[in-house]
Amino acid sequence: MTSPIDGALDEALASLARAPRILIALDFDGTLAPEVDVPDEARALPAAREAVDALRALPDTVVAYVSGRSLESLAHVAEYGDDLPLVGSHGLEVRLGPDDVRPAATDDDRARVAALRGHLEPLVEAVDGAWIEQKPAGFAVHTRVVEEVAARVLLETCRAVAAGVDAAMTVRDGKNLIEFSARDATKGDGLRVLREAFAVDAVLFAGDDVTDEDALAMLDDGDVGIKVGAAPTRAGYRVADPEGMVTVLARLGELRAG
Ligand SMILES: [Mg+2]
Repeated sequence: MTSPIDGALDEALASLARAPRILIALDFDGTLAPEVDVPDEARALPAAREAVDALRALPDTVVAYVSGRSLESLAHVAEYGDDLPLVGSHGLEVRLGPDDVRPAATDDDRARVAALRGHLEPLVEAVDGAWIEQKPAGFAVHTRVVEEVAARVLLETCRAVAAGVDAAMTVRDGKNLIEFSARDATKGDGLRVLREAFAVDAVLFAGDDVTDEDALAMLDDGDVGIKVGAAPTRAGYRVADPEGMVTVLARLGELRAG
């Protein structure tokens, strides 16, 4: 089922298609791939894959995926070799090409993360069910299966110790977890890296989640921002679901090929 494209969006696509060199930067889950229970099993809709392949075959037309997934997980579900540019971990990890992977952390970042982890590890290990997840530029302490009071005490102790050891560390509270990161990035940062690296004249960005708003905020006149779904957005255009994105990508390919 394809829905017709709104007239204003069609005009924006036609104008984008005329730009000399363009970047089509796409979120993956919920944008090209329907949400699934097992993250590893997510795949782009076959028609989305076809539309992306068609765009990638056109000259001066770069397609990239921009996701909150780790680079490794995104590469797995994207199912392109290693020549599809990818931005993972909300902008922290960038792979521009097979031989051009931008590390998520510097040696200095890694040393800071290791030092803090060294302080917190004994505290975490002493609590039944608590564990540490290593991330590209930091780590998270998880307490989902820890008894409630013990979990609260552990998370607060980790926060206090971290403030003493490395006050410059970014701290993020999640559901049953606390995350420490030596570097912070957004999908907007990832989009900026892509735009500069590929020296494009105009950009289409599409996404369905709150974190995609950071990338939509980076768009300029002549770019096209698309929100997938009904949630509030700063995007200029909207489609209902991944099927709607298929229609948009196929239309853009048609316009640009013509
Ligand atoms: Mg998404």
